[in-house]
Amino acid sequence: VPFDGHALSPQTARFLAQPHPLLIDGRWVEGAGEMTSHDPATGLPLTRFHIGGAAEVDRAVAAARAAFNGPWGRMPATDRAALLFKLARAMAADARLLTELDIVDNGMPAFIAELTTANTVEMLDYYAGAVLRIEGTTTSPPRHIAAQAEALTYTLREPVGVIGQIVPWNVPLSTAILKLAPALAAGCTVVIKPSEETPLSVLALGQMVLDAGLPPGVVNIVNGLGADAGAALANHPGVDKISFTGSTATGRRIVAASLGNLKKISLELGGKSPVVVMPDADLALAIPGVAMATFFLQGQNCMAGTRIFAHAAIHDELVAGVSAFADVMVLGHGLDAASQQGPMISAQHHAKVRGYIDGAQAEGAVLAAGGSSPDRPGHFIRPTVFTGCHRDMAIMRDEIFGPVMAVQRFESSDLDTIAALANDTPFGLSGSVWTRDLSTAHRLVKRIRAGQVSINCHGAVGTNIPFGGYGQSGWGREFGQEGLDAYLETKAVTARL
Ligand code: NAD
Repeated sequence: VPFDGHALSPQTARFLAQPHPLLIDGRWVEGAGEMTSHDPATGLPLTRFHIGGAAEVDRAVAAARAAFNGPWGRMPATDRAALLFKLARAMAADARLLTELDIVDNGMPAFIAELTTANTVEMLDYYAGAVLRIEGTTTSPPRHIAAQAEALTYTLREPVGVIGQIVPWNVPLSTAILKLAPALAAGCTVVIKPSEETPLSVLALGQMVLDAGLPPGVVNIVNGLGADAGAALANHPGVDKISFTGSTATGRRIVAASLGNLKKISLELGGKSPVVVMPDADLALAIPGVAMATFFLQGQNCMAGTRIFAHAAIHDELVAGVSAFADVMVLGHGLDAASQQGPMISAQHHAKVRGYIDGAQAEGAVLAAGGSSPDRPGHFIRPTVFTGCHRDMAIMRDEIFGPVMAVQRFESSDLDTIAALANDTPFGLSGSVWTRDLSTAHRLVKRIRAGQVSINCHGAVGTNIPFGGYGQSGWGREFGQEGLDAYLETKAVTARL
């Protein structure tokens, strides 16, 4: 039964009943081929969508350039802001469509899809509101000019230009909007390539962009394979910047592809984030908090806290607690309101995660919870907890991107020693520290090398809070003011008066 017997809204059903072309220059156009999108909770097909390659990317980049040089570039900032507020209202009005599309396309539970849709509306409002606060500065003119004449020096903040945005499948609408909203607010134009696994919510957004009245070519959507449409965009000499979210391996390819025209790059990449539980942690808070640090979004979460360092004094109680939490988590279709955990995105990814689970047992890790797949359709894996883990095991080193927790016991009370455990990774995206002692918490936070470290909570993202990676987790920041700065150049102007 499609959707496990759960009903879709008529609007979503209508959306799925038709194939979806590409959006180029304000028109829905045929691609070079078609792909089928599947519901990972059932394995059943959802709808067909067009895909493009180098030729379609070329047309989309040309349209984005024309819009940048034309209507979007010339539009007064107040009008640009008004259009973005209008788009936010359209998204809010069709929130159910966007939410259901992310549920069926990605498999995420409804409570997460509802949260991320609401956050995307908030994000668009936030950046629409920021348009009129894009400000330069005045400063002193250089001596060699000021010595001879009256002069004036000021800076202008100008849009970077045509932006290629390449996004992953794990939070499809959210990762797209947190690139689109600041780019459009800055005055850039965009060619976006959603993941071939989850094209649907961004396609629905494309119609809202047209209905809101953004000029043709401001937002172009070219679906397609990473090695095809993605690589064509990353290599394109007409693109001024690529903003990429995805795996560290693909991030390296994006960097290599940028060399031709030295396009600018932002990278939001993978993670293997540490969670440090100190002996005085409030376990009533830490047990569900640590469990969800790993299992939120079925572990397909760049911020996932998957290396748990548990002090010996609380290790056994913590492991018992998170294992009991894992054992009762409700796996199911995202449209089922009771569902707490969805499936892996694909059969291939399911096999990869299973490989890590089998490999961990072969390497001597002890299975404390989960480890199996339920007997039902879809690519589900039970939330899994391993203890007895150490730095050399693959589950402690690699980003698994699944519901797999690796717990390592530690005895030390020396914060440098504990931080060295936490920092023993090339990644540096997120992390958390669980303790009742705020002095310990802040001293440990200072020692952890990551772009986001939380105390007694994990993965605290917010529209206004900068987010990004240290080390191999990325370059630059999204969200907040820094997310807008990523799409702005600074021009220094000196006038001899
Ligand atoms: P991925 O790297 O496989 O794909 C991401 C996107 O890149 C997709 O649209 C894909 O089609 C495209 N792509 C693939 N090969 C390409 C190429 N050669 N040239 C250009 N584009 C190419 O990642 P994924 O599996 O879709 O997503 C999971 C990864 O994303 C995880 O590593 C996760 O940690 C990361 N992620 C990071 C953040 C963050 O903010 N740091 C957020 C979400 C996901």
